[in-house]
Amino acid sequence: MSEKRDYYDVLGIDKNSDEPSIKKAYRTLAKKYHPDVSTEENAESKFKEVQEAYEVLSDSSKRSQYDRFGHQANNGQGFNTSGFGGFDFNVNDIFSSFFGGGQPQQSNRRRKGQDMQRRMSISFEDAVFGAKKKIRVTLHEECHTCHGSGAYSKSDFKTCSRCKGRGTVIVEQQSLFGRTRSQTTCPVCQGKGKEITKKCTTCNGEGIESHNKDVEVKVPAGIDTGQQIRLEGYGNKGFNGGESGDLYILFDVKKHEFYERHGDDIVIQVPITFAQAALGDTIKVPTPHGNVKLKIPSGTQSETIFRLRSKGIPNVRTKRNGDEHVVIKVITPSKLTRQQTKLFDQLGNTDLSNDSLFAKFKKFLKK
Ligand SMILES: [Zn+2]
Ligand SMILES: [Zn+2]
Repeated sequence: MSEKRDYYDVLGIDKNSDEPSIKKAYRTLAKKYHPDVSTEENAESKFKEVQEAYEVLSDSSKRSQYDRFGHQANNGQGFNTSGFGGFDFNVNDIFSSFFGGGQPQQSNRRRKGQDMQRRMSISFEDAVFGAKKKIRVTLHEECHTCHGSGAYSKSDFKTCSRCKGRGTVIVEQQSLFGRTRSQTTCPVCQGKGKEITKKCTTCNGEGIESHNKDVEVKVPAGIDTGQQIRLEGYGNKGFNGGESGDLYILFDVKKHEFYERHGDDIVIQVPITFAQAALGDTIKVPTPHGNVKLKIPSGTQSETIFRLRSKGIPNVRTKRNGDEHVVIKVITPSKLTRQQTKLFDQLGNTDLSNDSLFAKFKKFLKK
């Protein structure tokens, strides 16, 4: 095959296209090139190309990989597109899959296990420093008794009565294009060509067993809400020797009572008194890395921001710490003792309005 075309070009869409436009472009092209109905040249290979582009671009994680690495992302890991070998599908299968009508394809082909995604809620501190957590996941894997066949023993099969062992059947259907005849996976044996006469008692003929597994999750320092990590091979087990799927952990970092997160930086509001603001002071400020002494100069106004370098959150990639920004809140006392009232009275009789702002404002009042 010649050079692989860009998936966006294949679907005739631009790089910023949203999900509905991708779906729309795919539907249009799938109709145009479907081998059962298309009169176009090379419809079959064009259809496969469209199919593959859609499988990648409609899956947000595959799409972001593709956006970053292009077809290179396909090396090794691969996008795991199903890349239909033969035409064991029909027009209606494609469209029904848009409406959740697709049924699981069971065949003797090697299949990679399905990926799984789990959400994990973590504390602010665990997000800053990283942590080791355990989660319990339910994995679906090939039944260990029947090795996925679903039968009690190797002899508990008979040739499928519906497809006579072919695994496929010809169906006539009323579709968007009028009556079509197409070949589809046999609904009785799901393409295996055989029917089970006595079911495996472990999995009740499903060929799949579920079991719980505790998986250790290393929470990377600096992770934020909405970011995820991939645990390769911790998804569902593959079938017929296929590799396991992956497990994605999507994080949700809980809000902290005092620290407000802005990317790798932290913002904290710190209250000080009138006296501290006027006279200056050295105060203790909390940071995730321990308390830090901060010098408040005399004459500090409320909302003044001081920056504590590298006292923020490590960047999840570079591991370099962000900063902590301390927002000073000068608190006006609301409950004064008799003595304090007296002192404020005395203070009030002196000229406290020596800031240039007072002078400017007085000028403005006289106008
Ligand atoms: Zn079984
Ligand atoms: Zn059959």
